[in-house]
Amino acid sequence: MNNYGYTQDLWTQMSSTLETEVSAITFDVWIKALEVDQIEDGKLVLIAPTAKAREFVVNRYFDLIKRVMKQHNSLLNELEILDPDGLESRPVDSKQLMVSKLLQPTQSTTSTVLHNNNSKYETTVLNRKYNFDTFVVGKSNQLVHATAMSVAADPGKRYNPLFIHGGVGLGKTHIMHAIGNAVVDRALKNNEQMPRVLYVSSEQFTNEFIESIKSGSQINNSFRDKYRKADVLMVDDVQFFGNKEGTQEEFFHTFNELYNAGKQIVLTSDRPPKEIGSLADRLQSRFECGVIVDVQSPDLETRIAILKKKAQLDNQYIPDDILIFMAERIDKNIREMEGLFNKVVLLSQLDKVSPNTDMVQIALKDFEEKSQGIVTMDTIVDITCNYFKLDRTEVMGKKKTKDIAEARQVCMYLITDILNVPLATIGTLFGGRDHTTVMHARNKVADNIRDNSRYKSIGYKTMIQDIKDMILNK
Ligand code: ADP
Ligand code: MG
Repeated sequence: MNNYGYTQDLWTQMSSTLETEVSAITFDVWIKALEVDQIEDGKLVLIAPTAKAREFVVNRYFDLIKRVMKQHNSLLNELEILDPDGLESRPVDSKQLMVSKLLQPTQSTTSTVLHNNNSKYETTVLNRKYNFDTFVVGKSNQLVHATAMSVAADPGKRYNPLFIHGGVGLGKTHIMHAIGNAVVDRALKNNEQMPRVLYVSSEQFTNEFIESIKSGSQINNSFRDKYRKADVLMVDDVQFFGNKEGTQEEFFHTFNELYNAGKQIVLTSDRPPKEIGSLADRLQSRFECGVIVDVQSPDLETRIAILKKKAQLDNQYIPDDILIFMAERIDKNIREMEGLFNKVVLLSQLDKVSPNTDMVQIALKDFEEKSQGIVTMDTIVDITCNYFKLDRTEVMGKKKTKDIAEARQVCMYLITDILNVPLATIGTLFGGRDHTTVMHARNKVADNIRDNSRYKSIGYKTMIQDIKDMILNK
C-alpha cells in the first residue's frame, strides 16, 4: 500500500471510530495528537508528538488502536507508534527499517541479517516476503529469474556482477532480495556460517559515504569494512550514482575489492549502464563486465497470475473476473497494480460486500492522477521552483527569506500530498531538517489552502492546484 492519500483516509476513519471508544478528553489530548506517517509491509506507522506522549499512548491505547486498525483494514498486521526521535533515527531509504525495530519479536515477515562487529553502519535488512516463491515468472521476467536463481545457487562464480535493469515497479528489488534470502536460507538450512549479505540502496550508500567523510579527513573504517567485507553486495537503483564523483570513486574500489575476492555483486538500475548520465567510464565498464539482464512489463497473463498469488498470500478471496478486470487496467507497473488490489480489498471491507467492478473503478480514479508519469521528489521540487521562479539550490538550502521559505513549504506539502514518503525522508532531502519542520510546513500550507485568503489575484488554493496539475502533467 503506497498511497499517501489512502493512508490519511484510513487514519481519518480510524480516528472517528476511536472517538467513540474513548472519553472525549482522552481523544482530544492523546489520540488527536497522533499523526499518521505511512503504511509499509502491512504495518501502520503513527507518530506521537513527544516521547512522553508516545509512552502514554503505547501503554494505554496500543491494543485498542491496533484493534480499530484491523477492523478498518484486516490486511494490516502491525502497528508502530514512534516518537519524533524514533522517526529521526530511521535510515533515509524508507524501504530499509532499522535493525533495532526489526528485532521486535512480533515481526514475522521480515528478517534481519545482523553482523555483530559493533559497526554503526550495520543495517542489513532483507524483506522476507520478497523471495523466489512469491515471485511469479512469466515471459517478461524469465531471463532475470533464471539468472538470479543461478546467482543465488552459486554466488560469485558465474554471473558477476549481475546487473538488472528495467522500469519502475517491475520487480527488480523483489528479485534482489530473493537472491539474498536464498543465500541466507541455504546457510541456515545447512547450518553453515552466516554469509554477509548486504542490501543497500544507492542513496543509502551515498549518504553513509558522505557521513563517513564528514567525521574526519580519513574515510571512516567501519564504513569501508561494512561494504568490503560483504559476501554478497546488492546495491539497488545505481542510476543515482550518476553525477556523484566521490561516491563513484569509493564504490569503484569497493567493487574491485569484492570482485577480486570472488564475492557476488548484484546491481539494479532503471536503465542500462551506458545510459546512466555522468558515470565514470571505468565504473561503467565494471558494471558491464558480468551479465546484464532486463525486466520487461508483464503481459496480461502474468499480471493476472501475480494478482492471484497476492490474493492467495494475503488470504483474500477475490473473484477471478475482478482480478482480470484489474489486471487489464494497469499494465506497466506491478506496484501500482498491487496498490489497486489493496484499495479494492479495503473498499470491499468497508462496504462489507465482495469486491466488484464498481470498486475497481473507484480505486482506479486515485491512480489515474498519479500514474501520469513517474513523479519523484525531484520533479516536485523542480516544478515548484520553476513556478515561483526561484533557484532550486536556494530552496533546498538554509535561506530563510520569505519567498524562499514559502516555496520550500509548498515543496514539502506537495511531496507529502503526492508521494508516499516519510516526513523524515523529506527532511533529509531538504538539507537534514527535522521531520517536525516538514510537518509544520505541510500544516501551514494546508491551513493556507483552507483559509484561501492569500494571493488574492488567483487564490492560494488555485495556485497550489495549478502547481500540482503541472507536476501530474494534467
Ligand atoms: P522495482 O524495484 O523494479 O521498482 P519492486 O521489486 O519494488 O519493483 O516490485 C514492486 C512490487 O511488485 C513489489 O511488491 C513486488 O513484490 C511486486 N512484484 C514485482 N514483480 C513481481 C513478480 N514477478 N511476482 C510477484 N510480485 C511481483
Ligand atoms: Mg526497486
